[in-house]
Amino acid sequence: MRTDRRFWIKQMGLGIVGLGLTRIPSLAAPGISRPAANDKLPIILRSNENPYGPSPSAQKAIADHLTFSNRYHWDIAPQLIEELAGKNQVSEENILLGAGSTEILDLVSKYAASKPGNYVIADPSYAYWTSTLDHLGMTKIKVPLTAAKTIDLAAMSAAINTDTRLVYICNPNNPTGTLLGREALAGFISRVPQSTTIIVDEAYLDFTRESSLTELTGSHPNLVIAKTFSKIYGLAGARIGYAIAHQTMIRQLTELQSNTNNSVSVLSKLAALASLKDEQFVSDCYALNEKARNYTISELTKLHCTCIPSHTNFIYFSLANYPKDFFKLLEANNIQGTGIYEEQGKWTRITVGTMQEMRQFIRTIQ
Ligand code: PLP
Repeated sequence: MRTDRRFWIKQMGLGIVGLGLTRIPSLAAPGISRPAANDKLPIILRSNENPYGPSPSAQKAIADHLTFSNRYHWDIAPQLIEELAGKNQVSEENILLGAGSTEILDLVSKYAASKPGNYVIADPSYAYWTSTLDHLGMTKIKVPLTAAKTIDLAAMSAAINTDTRLVYICNPNNPTGTLLGREALAGFISRVPQSTTIIVDEAYLDFTRESSLTELTGSHPNLVIAKTFSKIYGLAGARIGYAIAHQTMIRQLTELQSNTNNSVSVLSKLAALASLKDEQFVSDCYALNEKARNYTISELTKLHCTCIPSHTNFIYFSLANYPKDFFKLLEANNIQGTGIYEEQGKWTRITVGTMQEMRQFIRTIQ
């Protein structure tokens, strides 16, 4: 590991740029390196982050409270939980904060794996978090998507057996961007045995007009809804997410999180609180994403790339009829995308960035 001071300062500078704090005079100190004006910065279309965030009010909250960082400030978590309970129309006992929704997925994994068995997940779906389950000895049961690239709920139900401890539904699904309707999901949830924990991951639901399934947590103690501030709220690096579940489930998860509700820094919690109040920012991001997404889908289609209709801030498309070396072109032009998710059909995913970034992306592959 490199420990020299210059490297550390450079990393810090990059972090500060990433947080959008470059305009804070006290942080713009000489010695903190930033890319020179003529440096070609990469276009990052890889991890479905929000290219516009954090919201100005979240930035201000972080800047205004930097000097709070010397104290634990245990009182901030209850304030945020109260806000989240109000927003989601549940009680405070139904919420648990985590360092990103990844920590929530981890806690549920540990809870579900306390008994040996298997877990059921669509394929492809968001699966980076499942290494915890694998390390805890759980067997993975992968269920292929339908031809339309949606999660096949009938097949997911059929895959559940008496040893299934956990079933994961990503809605909308990453990487395909497809959305399941509330009724279909509610029907599925009611068919899952009580002994199987269900995660519905709503990381991208804010990019749709669909409402959350939160009210089902009252009647389904085995249901956990995972939420994040990393996507439409633009706080990916701040690491803040939360679970909504029945209070008996929240109590069980709480026992697995040593510093309950406080694995997230005070600054991130304050940024989240400010973000919740900045509704204009969220609706602006929604509209900007929709416009850039429509543009990109229309241009990709002209380039013979079949696109799956997206309900998110990313697009799943096929390179099967694309004649050039897509990945080489991206690399040569300093654009970061992802790889191939499904060999058959050569399906890949691109995050929707700003309109300018998407124009650059399309010019690159034309
Ligand atoms: N869930 C889904 C579907 C995601 O795509 C991601 C990140 O890309 C996460 C969860 C993790 O998000 P967080 O930053 O909240 O840990």
